[in-house]
Amino acid sequence: MPRRMWDQAWGWLAAITIALGVGGSVASGDDSATPNIVVIFCDDLGYGDLGCFGHPTIRTPELDRMAREGMKLTQFYSAAPVCTPSRAALLTGRLPVRTGMCSDTRRVLFPDSGGGLPASEITLAEALSERGYATACVGKWHLGHLPQFLPTSHGFDSYFGIPYSNDMDRIAEAPKGRAAFWEPRSEYWNVPLLADCHEVERPADQTTLTRRYTEAAVEFIEAHRETPFFLYLPHSMPHVPLFRSDAFENTSPRGLYGDVIEEIDWSVGRILETLRTQGLDKNTVVWFTSDNGPWLTFGDHGGSAGLLKDGKGTTWDGGMREPTIVWWPGSIPAGRVSHGLGTTMDIYVTSLTLAGADVPRDRVLDGVDLSPMVLEEKPSPRGEVFYYRGTRLMAVRQGAWKAHFMTQESYTGNNELLTHDPPLLYNLEADPGEQRDVAEAHPDVVASIAKLAASHKAGVEPVPSQLEIPLPTP
Ligand code: MG
Repeated sequence: MPRRMWDQAWGWLAAITIALGVGGSVASGDDSATPNIVVIFCDDLGYGDLGCFGHPTIRTPELDRMAREGMKLTQFYSAAPVCTPSRAALLTGRLPVRTGMCSDTRRVLFPDSGGGLPASEITLAEALSERGYATACVGKWHLGHLPQFLPTSHGFDSYFGIPYSNDMDRIAEAPKGRAAFWEPRSEYWNVPLLADCHEVERPADQTTLTRRYTEAAVEFIEAHRETPFFLYLPHSMPHVPLFRSDAFENTSPRGLYGDVIEEIDWSVGRILETLRTQGLDKNTVVWFTSDNGPWLTFGDHGGSAGLLKDGKGTTWDGGMREPTIVWWPGSIPAGRVSHGLGTTMDIYVTSLTLAGADVPRDRVLDGVDLSPMVLEEKPSPRGEVFYYRGTRLMAVRQGAWKAHFMTQESYTGNNELLTHDPPLLYNLEADPGEQRDVAEAHPDVVASIAKLAASHKAGVEPVPSQLEIPLPTP
């Protein structure tokens, strides 16, 4: 059905629904009422890894163009510094501590995990499906690999990708320790590649994943040009072990990591070009961001957080602030930079709002609607950011100020949980690298953030962790 007829049909349906008094969403009769939504979500990409975010040698012409045609967001955060909780938050609009998708003993889901995203959660795909959107997930899932937790059980019409991280399921014969990562081969990791719920390849040929994800994404867009769609594209890269296709071998002066980012850049270019050639660019909102910061303990196989402190696994800004671009030609002003606060959970609420879909009201949502900020350059409606590691609220940002109540190093070295009383305080506008603790000079700010943290904690009801559930015995 052509797009205009589709919207008209929705308009009639909504009018009938309202007339019958059974609620439901309201649609108007033009294309902008049901923009397509595309979310490109990298894995472990650092704040400083793109040309348009200041990297001197990684070339990202397509992302640079996306930023010139759209809006660059400089203060945009994931909801957690590691994969599983971060992904859960993006797709539910809720902090992982509310959904059970975090833990203080197991930081992410593993192949021996029996848990996953609970069916009671309303994913972005489910909410958009209700509104008539076609939905696809292409890429790394990491929200539970058992059939009841896979994308097709969570509102996606189709799925193609790997169910957990590309460094899991390492075979016993692979080189020990980190040796396997320095010269990686796909066969060292017995990671399955799934189509919907079915295994189609094992081990997945990781050298071709970025290319094949891109082809699947392009195919989905072309097949759904007449109906509204939601495409969720969580890349497996640049999570270690690093892989890229032959065409990108040894092309970047930054080395293997640079090759990997340049292939992702190519992928973004293919997707935006497909939207243009299909005449969908004026009717598609594309978000580009990452699930957490760079994995610094992997040396030059990890990315860079630029001037931000530390990386993946920590609640320093380098662990959770992401290089983010939002693009919607004709609707989002071109070439703008927003310093307003945002989080991936806001993508959930903003997308539902733009699509005219129902925003769930029967539960606590942590996302806010950023559409005034990105469409009209109004100030962000978000005043604060909560930095969680597992179930612990480690730090809180309020405006320019960030207070750390606890800190902990990422994976190696001193992994002791340190408590700070008074908390460490940084002004992220004056000191984005979190170098100068100014708590002593600003007791009023410390008191204000402590109060905010206490009231936030009082509003969080603990739920059982999904990450601690073992695989059921057969
Ligand atoms: Mg990650």
